Amino acid sequence: MNLKITEDIVASLIRHGRSEEPNEACGYLGAKDGVIDFHIELTNVDAAPDHYTMDPAEQFAAIRAIREQGREVAAVYHTHPETPARPSLEDIRLAHDPNTVYVIVSLMYGVDAVRAYRIKRGVVSDVPLQIVPGVQPATRLPQDVATRKRFSPPARNDG
Ligand SMILES: [Zn+2]
Repeated sequence: MNLKITEDIVASLIRHGRSEEPNEACGYLGAKDGVIDFHIELTNVDAAPDHYTMDPAEQFAAIRAIREQGREVAAVYHTHPETPARPSLEDIRLAHDPNTVYVIVSLMYGVDAVRAYRIKRGVVSDVPLQIVPGVQPATRLPQDVATRKRFSPPARNDG
């Protein structure tokens, strides 16, 4: 599987990571046609510099929000404030879903900023991740369009 991510999103993930330093930051990534162009920041309930746990209610809301944006859930992400973008022993131990793509964002200077993996029963495999030029981020529909009724009410027949 080949995955792409826009440079806008990479920049946003690094910004998110910096805002949570020294702790790890985490969140969800949405993609359209294989291009990650949407992210949702979640709370690291561990508030720790070397591991993270997502809030289950936030996860549920993130998945719904990604689908509402017409995107598919492509990956989860977290940051490594002081280490390269490789799964830690803890990351490997806690990776229970072999179908999940794990994107790791390193805030270290001089290493790859972002890499992706699958982790199946303790075995880590690379998911090629290509950074592509930013595209116009998803914009919300104008409120009047978003709330307009899709179907007319059935015609009444009072007679
Ligand atoms: Zn990690």
